[in-house]
Amino acid sequence: MTTYTDTLVIGAGAAGLFAALRAAEHGSVTVLEAGADAGNPLPDWALYDYALPEDYYHRYLDLDTGQVMPQGRGLGGGSTVNSAAALRGQPWCYDSWGVAGWGWADVLPALKAIESDQQYAGRAYHGDAGLIPVTRLAPGPLDEAVFGWCRTAGYPGIEDHNAPGALGHAMWTTNRRDGGRWGTWAGVVPAARAAGVAIRPDTTAVRLVFDGTRCTGAEVTATGTAGPGPSRGEATEVIRAGRVIVCAGAYGSPELLLRSGIGPEPVLAALGITPVSVLAGVGANVQDHPWCLLNVDVTDAALIEGRPVSGALLRYELADPDAEHVEAEIFPWQLRPYDRASPPTRVAFTAALMAPRSRGTFTLTPAGRELRTGLLADGADAAHMVSIVRETAALIDDLAKDGLVTVPDGAWWQIADDAALAVACRRVAGTYNHHSGTCRLGDPGDERTVVAPDLTVLGTAGLTVADSSVLPVIPRANTNLISMAIGYRAGSGL
Ligand SMILES: Cc1cc2nc3c(=O)[nH]c(=O)nc-3n(C[C@H](O)[C@H](O)[C@H](O)COP(=O)(O)OP(=O)(O)OC[C@H]3O[C@@H](n4cnc5c(N)ncnc54)[C@H](O)[C@@H]3O)c2cc1C
Repeated sequence: MTTYTDTLVIGAGAAGLFAALRAAEHGSVTVLEAGADAGNPLPDWALYDYALPEDYYHRYLDLDTGQVMPQGRGLGGGSTVNSAAALRGQPWCYDSWGVAGWGWADVLPALKAIESDQQYAGRAYHGDAGLIPVTRLAPGPLDEAVFGWCRTAGYPGIEDHNAPGALGHAMWTTNRRDGGRWGTWAGVVPAARAAGVAIRPDTTAVRLVFDGTRCTGAEVTATGTAGPGPSRGEATEVIRAGRVIVCAGAYGSPELLLRSGIGPEPVLAALGITPVSVLAGVGANVQDHPWCLLNVDVTDAALIEGRPVSGALLRYELADPDAEHVEAEIFPWQLRPYDRASPPTRVAFTAALMAPRSRGTFTLTPAGRELRTGLLADGADAAHMVSIVRETAALIDDLAKDGLVTVPDGAWWQIADDAALAVACRRVAGTYNHHSGTCRLGDPGDERTVVAPDLTVLGTAGLTVADSSVLPVIPRANTNLISMAIGYRAGSGL
């Protein structure tokens, strides 16, 4: 069977649904989603739960750490399974890319357009009419105690973490309505349907179709018949399209390009795939924010129960003679919403490095996917993590002194020697779930570049990639809002 649409969007996640909505202003749009549509109105779990049914995740094994890395699957993609932290990053994140059309002044209009800020809509840098409500929750007792320590330690109080250049302590900015996570499934799907977008859940793009180097559509199949890895089963339908926007996420997008003949020559040769465009950068440049969790117990569950996540957040910069704006985050969250077996008092104090230098790789081999995240591989990253962990431990010790938390004997971070603590940090480091960079945006003359500043895949026509995979350097922020903004820009032709 063959059908035609003016714009085919592959992946209905954070970026894809905004891309589809915007593209509908210019013609017919079909958006494919490998995962499910669990209904309208959304089930409560889609808004309030943090451990979703297994079908709502893609799982990727990180060969570096042995950890399994989740990615969202189903309408909304990562924005449906995430914790609704809504940070934009700093102006210097975007300006330092040096990519024409992607500086802070270029990206800000899209960040404003997607949001409806609930407290500061009147500010020049905020939007008041977007589909994603961004708010700050009322602090609970533990948040107030964290703010108290921040003041004593000399960190400034701020009102809005999304104000350009803001550093200091305040409540998290979070995309919620009535306390529930409000991602693109909740926020954009109704508008996309009203605009005439054809949304096709349970449908996987197997490979892209080309006429020479012009992308003319995709071969697709019902998701249940698509296996993992390079072959992905047989296509049952071809969707022809005037243009194709790939929004399949940090690993879904490079995987689809590789299966379609776009990638490093040796990888395509090993897969036996005829090249359409040889691009060394596909799957390279994997980035994520590493975090280390310092788990303690509050002495009274009431300290955290009213506000288990999206609470206090401290952001500050570390001194580094070789790099500017080495940003760190420290924040607490309750483990129980993510792990029902966890005691109601268990709180993870998170030490996160927001400007990592480490890079990883993602590729396909005839045997399947190979992911190496490279978390904390760079020595400077490990040294910075030691510093952030020590600061987090100082906060915890102060809370313990005040009788608010108890610290386990022999906790992993209680190591005096910096080199030994760096080893421990590498052992416990995990993902902040901000995978990105695998189809990097940049100067077409740079051999690492996959997509040009207009998001066109180099060496092709009619094909763009627009999602977290195009981020050339990960911003100092959670990646949901910027992924939405990238989709928004792509759908409207930038
Ligand atoms: C557990 C978790 C927690 C997170 N917490 C936060 C947070 O609190 N705040 C924040 O800002 N960010 C968070 N993130 C990150 C954020 O959600 C992602 O960066 C963002 O969703 C990326 O958007 P995207 O459009 O690139 O990809 P996604 O949102 O992942 O969307 C990609 C979509 O494409 C689909 N797809 C893939 N391959 C195909 C194919 N071949 N055919 C059809 N469909 C396909 C996938 O099923 C998926 O739905 C979290 C992520 C995870 C996984």
